[in-house]
Amino acid sequence: MALGSVLGLIGVALFATAARTVLPVGEWYAVKSAAILALVMIVAAFRVSAHHPFDRFGTANLMTTVRAALVALAGGLIGEPAAAPVAAFAVGVTAIVVVLDGTDGWLARRGGISSAFGARFDMEVDALLIMALAILVWLHGKAAGWVLLSGLLRYAFVAAGWLAPWLERALARQQPEALGLARPGFAWHGGEAIELRIVEARRTSAGWNAGALELRAPDRVGAASALERWYRSSARDAIAASIERQAEAIGVEPKALAVRDQRTRWGSCSSRGTLSFSWRLILAPPAILDYVVAHEVAHLRELNHRPRFWRLVDTLVPDVDKSMRWLSENGTLLHRYAPRNRPLG
Ligand SMILES: [Zn+2]
Repeated sequence: MALGSVLGLIGVALFATAARTVLPVGEWYAVKSAAILALVMIVAAFRVSAHHPFDRFGTANLMTTVRAALVALAGGLIGEPAAAPVAAFAVGVTAIVVVLDGTDGWLARRGGISSAFGARFDMEVDALLIMALAILVWLHGKAAGWVLLSGLLRYAFVAAGWLAPWLERALARQQPEALGLARPGFAWHGGEAIELRIVEARRTSAGWNAGALELRAPDRVGAASALERWYRSSARDAIAASIERQAEAIGVEPKALAVRDQRTRWGSCSSRGTLSFSWRLILAPPAILDYVVAHEVAHLRELNHRPRFWRLVDTLVPDVDKSMRWLSENGTLLHRYAPRNRPLG
């Protein structure tokens, strides 16, 4: 994505500079256009890191980046002379943006990589275009000041769309845990609650006993750390078993496996073939763990997120979209789960 943004900025700056030879625009036109695109890409990059479960930035989003670059060229015209060639250029750019609008969603669905982020990124670009056009139409004297309202109204609508998920998240924090992870006296394994039993013992250990997870420790602090160690080792076992199944299916072999408490990604694959996973995947239903493993195992063959990669993931596990949605909806809950300071019952 960084490369795409840099190329986009260079492209916009070059194109805007070249446009000066045919359009009566000032010397700041290229700077203004590049600044608008930079702003859009910074906002988009922030959202990718905050909400994207994986470092996935597909062809569709690249297409949206191209549209953003074109919108930046139109937006840069604000403040330039209200001459006929400038208006014609704005109309031409808009026409291309509108045509491309139809293609990015199609690309995303065809590649099986449609995401809420992509749709929102798309919407941001659309809103920006409408705002820029409203200002241009007003400055060129084609309509009175009221036209700005139409641009702003659309923006208010999009802003409400941004605010709504944020508000929902804020509410979810106050509601009882949707997954029930906070239930006292229970541990979680493969999306299911398992009874916890604490037994006072000199040495700390954890293991199954008569259908419950028994934590043996001298005190509650010891029991909590026994629980976390148990989570890590059962996550490693479940992930290793899933890797074995799936790696064999496509004839690849990871070099090493690391199980950590990584916050930014559920899994990752290094160019050397080391697969890393968050132990918190063991809290989720097995299908979710299998999907994340499939994703990283597929990276051993395809270290990219092109359509070919997603097709390979599809051959390994069903309902990829559903699993990704589950992770984006419940990921925060998994990350917030703290075996160390939770009530052990
Ligand atoms: Zn990936």
